[in-house]
Amino acid sequence: MLFYSFNLNRMLINSLSSSPEINIDKDMKLTKHWISPLIRLFFPHYCVVCGGRLREEEEVLCAECWQRFPCTNFQMLKDNPVERLFWGKFTLGRATAFCYYWQEDDYSRIVRLLKYDGRPDVGISMGKKMAAELWSSGFFEGIDMLIPVPLHEKRQKERGYNQSEQLALGVKEITGIPLKTDAVVRVRNTETQTHKTAQERFENMQKVFQRAVPIELLQGKHVLLIDDVLTTSATLTACADALQEVPDLTISILALAMAGH
Ligand SMILES: [Zn+2]
Repeated sequence: MLFYSFNLNRMLINSLSSSPEINIDKDMKLTKHWISPLIRLFFPHYCVVCGGRLREEEEVLCAECWQRFPCTNFQMLKDNPVERLFWGKFTLGRATAFCYYWQEDDYSRIVRLLKYDGRPDVGISMGKKMAAELWSSGFFEGIDMLIPVPLHEKRQKERGYNQSEQLALGVKEITGIPLKTDAVVRVRNTETQTHKTAQERFENMQKVFQRAVPIELLQGKHVLLIDDVLTTSATLTACADALQEVPDLTISILALAMAGH
């Protein structure tokens, strides 16, 4: 139901924008003020955690579930557990994960919907929410560009989108920081990391990513790598390794969730 409701919304907006009489940019108020509430009336949205019906202004989670949301608040901690994962691996600016991830927890549905159930809208909503929460801590100060951890082309075709890019789109909407999706490419499609030890994960991630833009474009910059779930530092370190030749580059890390804690 959730998926159909989201697609119907898109289809209606797309059909309106292709109509010669209606300019969707000019008439965004039209969709905001009566089409969306109308769609909500017939295809209500539900909280992904408790299943309760969402109010018009709510996205993904209801207010009650946001109150119990398992925030890490690591951005308030100096030398926080995410930063420690990357110490000594590259020039680290800041690092944090927005929330904790426990596999059996109701909140793990957020990640499952985003990664496996075709809900890119969940990524954009969570990206907006984490950016809004982190904003006042100064987490985004001095960051020049957002780089979502890329998927291999084949994996992205299968899924239809890159979940980290959806998170980054939400972050961009709140912070206004430019998004760069072609700075790094994933050249190897690795097998799943789920049942591997930390050492095996690092070995599995060797030379998985490659820089795909000229050094000059990144030299002296501060980039924010964005990922969905942080388990070990293997994926993000491999992604940062692809940028190791770039002089004066500072890398910060933002993950939606930190697993296994
Ligand atoms: Zn709820």
